[in-house]
Amino acid sequence: MSKHVYGASGDAAWSGKDAMPNYCVNRNVDHPGDHEVHDLDSTLGCLPAPANRLNLGQHASSVEAVAAAQVHFPTANGCRWCASLVTAP
Ligand SMILES: [Zn+2]
Repeated sequence: MSKHVYGASGDAAWSGKDAMPNYCVNRNVDHPGDHEVHDLDSTLGCLPAPANRLNLGQHASSVEAVAAAQVHFPTANGCRWCASLVTAP
């Protein structure tokens, strides 16, 4: 019954370059049929309301985070803003 909220406050000691980002997936469908995966450190205003987040834990990349999300939601997809699966050319 803990109430930990990742990245909400405190924990400002993140300085290690090796720290992997934490991801969450929206429990609600954003786009038709898609549950979007987000980087919890995103400051782009795209994160779902805390009550709608399912924490996915740390992943090295958005690709791995989406794969983890698809265990819960087969239609999970990366947020176009903070967890894009498209690699820049
Ligand atoms: Zn996002």
